[in-house]
Formats: sequence, structure tokens, C-alpha cells
Amino acid sequence: MEGKSNLNENRMNQNENRIQSNDSKINSIGNEIALDDNRTNSNGRRINLMDLLPEELKELLEGMGQQKYRATQVFQWINKGVTDIDQMTNLSKALREELKSVAYLGKLKTVRKLVSKIDGTVKYLFQLPDGNVIECVLMEYRHGLSVCISSQVGCKMGCRFCASAGAGFVRNLTPGEMLDQVISAGTDAGRRIGNIVIMGIGEPLDNYDNVLKFLRLVNHPQGLNIGYRHITVSTCGLVPAILRLAKENIPITLSVSLHAPNDSIRERLMPISRKYSIDKILEACKIYTVEIKRRVTFEYAVISGVNDSMDNAWELAGKLKGMLCHVNLIPVNHIEDGEFTRSDRQTMERFKAVLEGAGIETTIRRELGQDISAACGQLRRSVITYTDPRRWEDAVRSEE
Ligand code: SF4
Repeated sequence: MEGKSNLNENRMNQNENRIQSNDSKINSIGNEIALDDNRTNSNGRRINLMDLLPEELKELLEGMGQQKYRATQVFQWINKGVTDIDQMTNLSKALREELKSVAYLGKLKTVRKLVSKIDGTVKYLFQLPDGNVIECVLMEYRHGLSVCISSQVGCKMGCRFCASAGAGFVRNLTPGEMLDQVISAGTDAGRRIGNIVIMGIGEPLDNYDNVLKFLRLVNHPQGLNIGYRHITVSTCGLVPAILRLAKENIPITLSVSLHAPNDSIRERLMPISRKYSIDKILEACKIYTVEIKRRVTFEYAVISGVNDSMDNAWELAGKLKGMLCHVNLIPVNHIEDGEFTRSDRQTMERFKAVLEGAGIETTIRRELGQDISAACGQLRRSVITYTDPRRWEDAVRSEE
């Protein structure tokens, strides 16, 4: 246990350094598509069309001597789910060939699909063009289909109750790789996706620029046209990024993984809490609610004997009282070798009653896809114990 916590501390320190370097690095694809004479990006590589906004496609196509309406056509084909440039049949063959010489469609490949026999929830294991794998979950709610997407391959944050933390961090997803999770799940379902939660593998605000560009892609009226109010972005509490998001004027729902009523309990669960205290997180959330005029959701994984006492409930209620917020109580997921167990239903109901008594709207999350490991990172973890993308295929094969 001691060794494990030292290991987590080292991981966290490395992660913090990486977070800082990511903060200063502009990694949006948009900044990379300045075209050179060969009409490839500044690295001389072909461009992934999935990553481009219509205005960037316009720049690309005008550079090829095409009219701007071609950009709309390409963007619409991408969002219809074509898997090949040759399927863009209203472009001439010559134009498709020219496009292929400078660009490609970086589509995801479905390597596994599990469907829950209990509630129809679908879990996809997608392979990225570079061989890495990520998860995506499609859920049916009364108000329509909702998709939970990943934002990174692995995660740096090291939350101790999370299956995604164990396999380490590999890389950020590009905007197009996030978009294609939504397109691929919608194509497979044959229905429109109405809601998106960025709550799968990864810390979305640690991949800030790409997530923001994904939001613009998925919201675009010529594309999937999913309203910002139907999109939830989760975070483990990266205070500077929450403050930055508060200035973007994008009315998404912010969902903060709090999981504890005080810093000492939170430090046991989430290494990031050594960097940002609960008070600092709540301060940033208050600013967010004022700027964006939307309530913040606080996620609270209820863990037996750790954060589920009535004292914990009263302490949390005291911290959140008067805030424009909603609390979502989550039965903690069991992960292999995990040290935490979930609280029983009665305890969760009592916890909820305390919060509601303080005027805080509280729900207990309905669990979907229990029979298909639908919680964050569990499927990926079941097939990958390595960060080397070439080796997960062996793991998949050996399971079959
Ligand atoms: S809970 Fe979220 S932030 Fe924490 S390790 Fe898992 S994916 Fe990362």
C-alpha cells in the first residue's frame, strides 16, 4: 500500500509537469494546417480531414483551386459517416484523387462491440489510426441517445478508484478522433445522437484545445449540430482550465468529480487534490456559474467507509449550500484489484436526504450496462495491460 502510494505520487509529479507543458503548448490542429506549397501541413504530413472545421476545409480546398462550397460538401460527407474519400460522390474523381494526395480520413475501427442484455447499452472498443484503443458508450435515455466519449488514450490523473488510471497515459485525442466516436456510434445505431458526455477515458480539460475544437465541430450547423446545452464536459478539478472555460461563452454543462467533502479524504482518492483544494475548485465553479449562467454538476462516487458517513454528507452540504449546483451520487465501480467497495443503497439514500434537506438537488445515478463493464476504462483495461498499442491485439485474441 505504501509502495503503491509512492508510485502514485511519482506518477502525479510527472503528470503535473506534463500538465504544465500542455498548458503552454498550442496543440490545436487548426494551427497546424497552414499549407505549404505541397498542400500538406507544416510537418509535411497528410492532413486528417476529420480534424478540420468547415473554414479550414475551405482554406484547404481553395488552395487546390476549388470553390468554397466544396468545403461544405466534404464536411457534410464526414458527418454522414463516410469511411473513404472515394465515397464523397459529388466530388469529381480528379478532385478526390487530389484530395487523397494531401489528406486522409482518419476513421476509427470498431474492434469490439458489447451490448447489454439488461438495458441495451452499447460499449465500443475503437482502434485509432495509430493502433491505440479507446472506449465509447452509447446509452438510451428517455430523452434520446446519449454517447459517452473518451478524450485521451489513458489518463495522467491517477484517481485511485478508476480503471483508466492503471494503464497510464499515452496521448491526447485529436478533435476528429472525438468527433468520430460520436459519428461512428450514431451510424451504428442508425439514429441521431442527442447528447454527449465527455466522461470516458481521459481528463478532458487536460486536452483543452482539442476538446474545445471538438465542441465546435460537433455543434456546427452543417455537421451533427448538437447543441452545447446537450454536451457535458467532466473534469477532476483543474482550476485554471475551469476558469478558462468560464470565459469561452460556450453553454455546456460542467461536471466536476468531487468525490469528497474535504481535502484529506479527497487526497486519498485523487492525487490532483494536492494541487487544487476543494475550496479553490468551488471558487472556480462559482465563477463558472456566474459567467455561463448554468449550474455545475458535482459527481460524488460513494465509497463504503471512506466518504459515505452522515458527517461527510453534512460537511458536503455545508460546502455546497447556496451554490447553483446539482449533486450526482454514483455507486463506485468495482475494478479488479481496486481497494474500494460501494456503499449500500440505504446509505446512499440517507446521504441524498441530507443534501436535499440543505436545498441541494441530488440524484443517484442509474447504472447502465452493468453486464458489459460500461464504466470508464473497464473494457479497455480488460484487454490492455500495456501501453504499447501493438500488444493489445494479442490480448484481445487470447480472450476470444
Ligand atoms: S476518473 Fe477521470 S480523471 Fe480520474 S483517472 Fe479516471 S479518467 Fe482520469
